[in-house]
This record gives sequence, C-alpha cells and structure tokens, in this order.
Amino acid sequence: MAKLRVHELAKELGTTSKVLLVLLRESGEFVKTASSTIEPPVAKKMRQKFAEQAAAQTETTKQVETEKQSKAARSTAKDAKGSEPSGDSAPQAPVAKTPKSKIIHSDGPKPGPRPAPKPQPQPQPPAAGPRPQAPVRHTDGPKPGPRPRGPRPGNNPFASSQGMPRPQKPRGPRPGNNPFASSQGMPRPGAGGGDHRDHRDQRGRGKRGERSGAGRSQSGSGTQQPIGVFHVASDAAKPNSGRRGGGFGGSGGPGGRGRGGRGGTQGAFGKGAHTGKKRKSKRAKRQEFEEQSAPVIGGVKVPRGDGETPLRLRSGATLADMAEKIEVNPAALVTVLMAMGEMATANQSLDSDTLEALGDELGYKVTIVSPEDEDREILESFDIDLEGEEEDDFSSLEIRPPVVTVMGHVDHGKTKLLDAIRHTDVVEHEHGGITQHIGAYQVIYNLEGEDRPITFIDTPGHEAFTAMRARGAEVTDIAILVVAANDGVMPQTVEAINHAQSANVPIVVAVNKIDVPGANPQKVRSQLTEYGLVAEEYGGDVLFVDISAKQRQGIDELLEAVLLTADAKLELLANPNRSARGVAIEANLDKGRGAVATMLVQRGTLRVGDAIVVGESFGRVRAMFDEYGRTVDEAGPSRPIQVLGLTQVPRAGDNFLVADDDRTARQIGMKRQSAARQAELAKRRKRITLEDFNKALEDGKVDTLNLILKGDVSGAVEALEDSLLKIDVGDEVALRVIHRGVGAITQNDVNLATVDNAVIIGFNVRPAQRVAEYAEREGVDMHFYSVIYKAIDDVEQSMRGMLKPIYEEVAQGSAEIQQVFKSSKFGNIAGVIVREGIIKRGAKARLVRDGVVVETELEIQSLRREKDDVTEVKEGFECGIGLGVKDIQVGDTIETWIMEEKARD
Ligand code: GDP
Repeated sequence: MAKLRVHELAKELGTTSKVLLVLLRESGEFVKTASSTIEPPVAKKMRQKFAEQAAAQTETTKQVETEKQSKAARSTAKDAKGSEPSGDSAPQAPVAKTPKSKIIHSDGPKPGPRPAPKPQPQPQPPAAGPRPQAPVRHTDGPKPGPRPRGPRPGNNPFASSQGMPRPQKPRGPRPGNNPFASSQGMPRPGAGGGDHRDHRDQRGRGKRGERSGAGRSQSGSGTQQPIGVFHVASDAAKPNSGRRGGGFGGSGGPGGRGRGGRGGTQGAFGKGAHTGKKRKSKRAKRQEFEEQSAPVIGGVKVPRGDGETPLRLRSGATLADMAEKIEVNPAALVTVLMAMGEMATANQSLDSDTLEALGDELGYKVTIVSPEDEDREILESFDIDLEGEEEDDFSSLEIRPPVVTVMGHVDHGKTKLLDAIRHTDVVEHEHGGITQHIGAYQVIYNLEGEDRPITFIDTPGHEAFTAMRARGAEVTDIAILVVAANDGVMPQTVEAINHAQSANVPIVVAVNKIDVPGANPQKVRSQLTEYGLVAEEYGGDVLFVDISAKQRQGIDELLEAVLLTADAKLELLANPNRSARGVAIEANLDKGRGAVATMLVQRGTLRVGDAIVVGESFGRVRAMFDEYGRTVDEAGPSRPIQVLGLTQVPRAGDNFLVADDDRTARQIGMKRQSAARQAELAKRRKRITLEDFNKALEDGKVDTLNLILKGDVSGAVEALEDSLLKIDVGDEVALRVIHRGVGAITQNDVNLATVDNAVIIGFNVRPAQRVAEYAEREGVDMHFYSVIYKAIDDVEQSMRGMLKPIYEEVAQGSAEIQQVFKSSKFGNIAGVIVREGIIKRGAKARLVRDGVVVETELEIQSLRREKDDVTEVKEGFECGIGLGVKDIQVGDTIETWIMEEKARD
C-alpha cells in the first residue's frame, strides 16, 4: 500500500501541508516537504489529534459564544481584573480537554516530569488504570494544533483563507532585523574566518562562555535576533495566539527600531516589499523570509536562533540532522563548520561538543538527547510509554519467581551447582525431560507446602551479569555466591561480591565442596565478613548454606535459602495481565531456525503471535520453547523461554517489548538501529580519560578515580595496586581499584569499566583486537605500561589534575595602526599595515600601546582589504581591522596569537 503523503493527509484533515508539516516536526517526525511520506502510525496519531482538537474546539467555540453572550448581557464596561481570567479560560479549555494527545515537542525542554513519578510503586488507586494520566508532553504550553483554529482569523500565517490582516505581515526581520544588512560594510561578527580553531582551543579550556561573550557580542542574541523561519512556522502552529502575538510583537520591535534606515538592504534581495504582487507563492515568501533572516557565515546564509532557541539533537547527530531541524541546506552547515575550523561531511556523526559549538554559532541552544530519552521518544512516537506502564495497579500485581545468577571464583563449582539444581526440578522428574541449555531455566521448589518456581540464569560467572548490567538490564534478583570450602575466598569471589553489591542484589552464599577433605566452611564464613557478608549465625543477615554440588547435597537448603532471602529482602511482584516486557538473555543464529533468543519475561505475558522488538531486532513470536524443548504458548513474569521469529539476533541484555502490530515493531526496530548506528559513531568520544578526570572531578561528576588493573603476573599487579593506593593527593580525590586480575584485558573488564566509569591500566598486557575495538566503541580509556613507576606517575598526575592538556600561546601576527576610521556602531576601524606574520579574521588579539598591553581578549572581528572582506592578510599588506573597541590610536600595535596544545614530555 502506498504511504500517505503529507499533503494528502493535510487535505484529508482539512488543513494545509505547511501546518501539518510543522506539527509533524514538532512531534519529532522527520518530514521535509509536503510530498514526504508518513508512516501510518504517525498519520493515525495526527488524525487522532485533529479529531480531538476539533472536538475541543467545538466545545471552546460554544463556551466562547456563551461567554460572549453573557458578557454582552452584563455590560460592555470590561475591566481587566475580573473579566480577564474568565475570558481567558475559555480558549484554554481545549487544553484540559485533550489530555490524551501525546504531542512530543521536540523542541521543548525534554518531556519533563513524567506524569506520575515512579516513586509510588506501591498501591495505587485501583481506578487509576494502566496509564492514569496519558502524558501530555506539552512543555511549553498547550498546543492543541492548528485545525480547530481554522475559523479564528489571523492565527495561521500560512492558511490562505484567513479573514484577518496578518499581524505578522509587516513584521520584520526585514530592515533592521537582518543581520546581514546590519553587517554591511562592517565587521561581520559571526563570520569567522579560518581561525575558529582558536576558539575551540579556548573552549577546551572551559572558556567557552567567555568566547561567545566577547566574540559575538554584536551578532548575538540581542537586538538582531533574526526571526528564524522555523520559529514562525512553529509558532504558527501553536494555537495560543496570545503568546505568538507577543513573540511577533517582540521581534517586530527591533525591526522597526534603529536600523530601519537600512531599508536599502532589502533592495539587495530584490524585494522592496510584498506590496507589488498580490500573492506570492508561499514557498517563495518563505524562502525570501529565510534569506532575510539569515546571516552570512562562512559565505552561506543560515537562519539563526536567538541564542536561546532550543534545538534538540540526538547524540551522534549529523549536520544533515541539524540542517533538517533548522530547515537549511546541509551543505550550508558544512560550510559554517568549516568556517569554524572543523571539517565534517553532512552525514558524519558529530560529537556533542561540536554540535553545541555549531549551535552556539548559529544562535541555538543545543541539547543532546540521551540515548535513554531518545529511545523513549522513539517509543513515545509509537504511543508506548514504558515508564507510564510501570504504574501497574497494585491489585493487578502478582508474586513472581526470583531470578537467580550463580557467581564465584573459577572452579569453585558454579557449573556443577547449576547442574545439580536443574536435577532437583520436580517437573523434570515428572516429564522425564532432559534440560537443554537455553541460557536460563526454572525449577520448582516446594517451600512449606507451596510450589515455588525459581528462575536460574544458566550462564555461570559474572560475565553475563556485568554484560547485562552494562546494557542497563537489571535481570538478577538474587546472586548465589559459590565459594569452595577447600579454597576459600579468591579474587573472583571478591569480584563477584563487588558486582552484586554494586547492583544492590542480595547474596546467598553457597559454601561448596564440603565433601572434600580439609574443607573448612567456617573459614569461608569468617573470610566473607571482611566483605560485609555476615552469616546469620554470626548475627548478620546473609544466609550461608553448606553444599556439595558434586554429591548434590544441600541443594534443597540452598533453594530454600534463596526463597527465604527473596521473601525477606525483596518484593517480587509483576502484573502478568498486560503485554510483555523483558530481557534477552542469550541469542544465537541457528542454521535451520534463524535467530533464536532466550528471553526472560519480566512483566506481562508473552504469547505466540506477539509482535516484538528486542533492542534493534524485531519480529513476531513464531514459536516458544521452554528449557525442556517443549512448545509453550505463553510465558508470564520471570519465565525464561526460547523465542523464534526474530529477524536478527539480539544482544544479551537487550530489552524486549511487545508492540501493537508487526509494522510498529519493525519501525521501532529500524529507528533504534539508526539511532544506535549514530550513537556508536558519537561514542568514539572517550567515556573518561585520565586527562579529563580532573575536569569531571571539578564538575562534581566523580570523586573517585576508578581503576581496573590487569597485569601479566600477580606479583606485578599487587605491587602496582599497593603503590597506587599509596598515592595521596588529599581528601577530595580518592582512588579505587575496582578490579584487578592477571591476564589479558577482557571484554568483561571493559564492561565493568563502562559500568563504573573506570580507567583500565594494563601492565605488560594488552587486550585482544576484538576487546580493544569493543573498548573503543564503548569509549573506555585504557593505558598500557611496562614500568610500574610510569603508571604510578600518570595516575598520580591525573589525580592531581596535571594531565590537563597544556596550551601555549603562539604569536601569529602583528600589525601597526596607521589610521583610525571612526564608526559609531562598531567601534573604530583600524587601518593597519601587517608588520609580522599573518593576521587572520577571528584570531585572538590584544592591543599594545607604547609597549604596554592596553586591551586583552580582543578578537579580529572584521578584516578587510580595500572593500573586500578577507580571511587573512599577510605581512607587508595594508588592511582594515575591526576589533570592536573604540579606544585605538595610531601607532598602536595589534598582536594576534593562537593557543596551541603543547606536547607533554
Ligand atoms: P566453575 O568453574 O565454577 O563452573 O566450576 P565447575 O562447576 O566446573 O567445577 C570445577 C571442578 O570442581 C569440577 O571438576 C567439579 O567436578 C568440581 N566440583 C564442583 N563441585 C564440587 C563438589 O561439591 N565437591 C567436589 N569434590 N568437587 C566439586
């Protein structure tokens, strides 16, 4: 079926494509033109919205009518105090009446508080329903949409059928508002030449604010504030014309002010006024408007924001994405960025610094949407509100089985224990089934006469645990810590404890191998007290069970301990009567069956035939199997099942959810795929490096430098750890070795580093290529040493903040002022001759008079040779320089410099 196009839908809804486009964009849809296609769910959403608006509008109109009549009846003497509120309340009415609309304003300051903040997972009024307050994501005021406003004149700048004079017509970015005009013949502030790199250096040192303040004070947000085309459009779509009117009034102000005299500039565009033709095509008008409000940066015109105009971009956004949002040709942004000293193609993912700097340059306040928010937005665009869903009515919650992970040191018997547990299962005995490894299984234990299922994640070790945690999937409810009684606490035992504790997962200790001669279970108990695990018999609250996995002794007691711990420490509840959500635990590609994924249902019930999305993968549940290979039609909370029917293999730890239909599932999957691709590119930025540790510290982001130490021999690792822990740089900064080990750097180390924002130190060891790539992708900082003191040095320096990049000033050029041209608006212009080096536009500058620096922190704001703006002037040539200051004198020297990062020795 052919997809609907914007203009078709607009026609269907009885509005114009322009209006619909604006609404669509506000809803976060990427539509370019009236002939862009729209996905059916989006169309549906729009229809729904319009229907609601229409209903609300009818209501409003009625109210307004009634209001009018009653007013007329009362008297015409109306004063502001009493009548205003009531007068206003009527047009506001539709807002309250459209609680369902889920307009996501992509330019709003982030959805804001969720309707009913999570803090009450506890009993809710039963009547609340699954989504008590469908979130109305209006962050900046209600926007019931344009449709119902049809009859109200003057509200829609694009509607051709309006009966009112258009208030915005004379608005004018026109004469005065045109930054282009204002910069005629004068320094063009924003038009940095090739030297914005200097700024970037500055920014790197945290002086960004200063830079924009100094460098752009003229072009900035104040008076020139050009009305971005975008604003007009988006405002137009907003019904509360009061607000809009204000906006336009405001912007009209500057237009009429001061620079009106520059009306001549309009001539430059060949359009004196709109009076000539009765009606120009809207497109032409729009284009023209765009041009007028667009300043020239790096030779291209780009519509500007007002310095505060919000612009939401996802992480790893490209110039093309940004261009689409501000409605400009991507090539123009490439040029602007180049003028700022950075090269990027239109489709290259950019880091957030660059996006922000570019936004800054163009007057937009860029906010980078976090991956979580982005995913939420993707889901919201399909009417899925995961957090809203969490507010299950208490009465609908039922007890669910605990999900258990077995952890512990290698060879302490984890695998053996999982085997032993599997064999206790009564169901297995009944069915004579042979369990297959699917990544998780469930056993049923009879506790005090009640059959209680327990779900075990069948991947021993904490690799899976950390891998899942690193992906944000909190699967495990309880950890069984296996410690061999003949071996005692070992490094990985401690590691496992750390993992469980940092995930706030209660631990049950299985003291294994008690059958081995020389086993000393009590010693294990006392050893573990050091790590905060105090056995009940010692007055603590941790259950210790002595077992022999090999001889299958103590397994029942262990299962009992798990259930008791679950009952005592956790409240495991889930609503089985809703669409399922959960996590993929394991997945592989099977030759015959395609992608096979073991999923753990966490909430709701998964059924054959459900359309699902698992991370970036999607599909329809074709068949489900349990751990015995039996087909299953439905699976409730805490149930692990193997699922067939996905189009691609998901990753362990990917969350899954059930979508309304196949198409929605596919679209969500696709959107996630593209978001992930972009985020991955952007992630190339380091998570935390030794260099930026101090910066992070200052920002209050970390107070501890977390390290993971890996070495070739244990002696070296211990020595390194000892020495590192002795480093003392004061109380503010602590160093924590969250993990140490012998052997190559593994993926698990990287996972751990991502979770705890740690830096990995490799001593005579390296990661495998695959792991190195993974670390790179995850942005984990790794350092390799073969001399201990060098490693200590680096860590100490970073803790002391000495590893900050060192910049030094490098002189670039100097010029002598030979003449001063007065200009009332832009300070005086210096007629100079370049004495040394080269003077570049945008360069940092200072003014020296008789050998004394009289002005610092200046910038070469304009640079002209003859009548042309130039980017640089070489030694021996004359030129005109605008510094933006008045106090310049003949004989003064202008010196410029750049900041260069100095190599560390
Ligand atoms: P994992 O590395 O922690 O998974 O440990 P395994 O389950 O592979 O066990 C390591 C070794 O310890 C194997 O040879 C097991 O047979 C042995 N083992 C495990 N549990 C016991 C036990 O309770 N008693 C004895 N004697 N040996 C055990």
